[in-house]
Amino acid sequence: MKDDLVVVTGGGGFIAGHMVADLRRQGYKRIRAVDIKPLEDWYQPFEDVENLSLDLDLRENCDTAAAGARQVYNLAANMGGMGFIEHNKALCMLSVLINTHMLQAARKFGVERYFYSSSACVYNGDKQRDAANPGLKEEDAYPALAEDGYGWEKLFSERMCRHFREDYGMWTRVARFHNVYGPNGTWDGGREKAPAAICRKIIQAKLAGNLEIVIWGSGNQTRSFMYIDDSVKGIQMIMNSGILEPLNLGSSEMVSINQLVDIVEDIAGVKMKRIYDLDAPKGVMGRNSENTLIRKYLGWEPDTTLRAGLEKTYAWIYDQVLARNAGRRVVE
Ligand code: NAD
Repeated sequence: MKDDLVVVTGGGGFIAGHMVADLRRQGYKRIRAVDIKPLEDWYQPFEDVENLSLDLDLRENCDTAAAGARQVYNLAANMGGMGFIEHNKALCMLSVLINTHMLQAARKFGVERYFYSSSACVYNGDKQRDAANPGLKEEDAYPALAEDGYGWEKLFSERMCRHFREDYGMWTRVARFHNVYGPNGTWDGGREKAPAAICRKIIQAKLAGNLEIVIWGSGNQTRSFMYIDDSVKGIQMIMNSGILEPLNLGSSEMVSINQLVDIVEDIAGVKMKRIYDLDAPKGVMGRNSENTLIRKYLGWEPDTTLRAGLEKTYAWIYDQVLARNAGRRVVE
């Protein structure tokens, strides 16, 4: 198994970069990482990995990526936090090309296992109007009313995986990630998500001696956040399981955005003046991961506490901000 060629798409990005790092730690010797970005913009490029800069919208590039592979983890997508997905719906939907062409290529080359990274954004918006969300069950994706743009692409691509499994006998597995955060991921530039954005804003305010933070929305909207190590572990457990239907992969530790800010303030040792931008993109009112099925099937669920994960994330972003301020090149 450790000599099998494993392909990780989106390898220059956050989750896939950590997947590659973890496969290396486990002793996988033949890893191919693929991303549209030039190598100097990857968070975690490794010299002993076959790194390819390819646009996976294109079928021929997906063939190059999948040739000879036994396993494919498809983590490439055009994505970002609410600020990005609300303003780039067409771009998000175009990620349908990546999964469609990767599935076709995987089938052509007889790939034995194929993983697709879906999202909690597939869930019906009507089930997320209340901040006191009891947790989204897998069945709550239907009747379908997904997040416009990004969520519909994910829902469609999930079904594409299902039909390649049913019609062509392919081994496809799908996880619905709830917000993933951690070091070595987007922390500035417009695609970053709430945990990284809040860490960065507090770090910059602290360094500037101006303790103000702008929060998108009322701060009462709720979410759960999964630490990256749990995500990487869960992806591999789901990939190698008999679970055929899309499964939630997320933490069930739900917090409001205000509570998220409380924790980061505590880590930073500051108290911020909060300014609420009610016109900013804020997404659904309440979202949490309901983990009955993952506990039942895998006997496990993401369990890193938000506090523990944020301490590591804050420390990493702090170093990035200092390095950038000192004029060193950093990947944002
Ligand atoms: P990311 O943006 O850090 O990584 C995605 C990578 O895909 C990027 O490096 C990007 O350059 C690459 N990519 C985009 N278009 C490409 C193309 N045409 N060809 C090749 N590469 C391309 O995002 P991430 O957080 O690591 O997300 C990984 C996967 O998990 C994505 O499918 C995303 O939708 C999904 N997901 C992530 C979260 C989260 O909270 N991070 C939540 C739900 C779902």
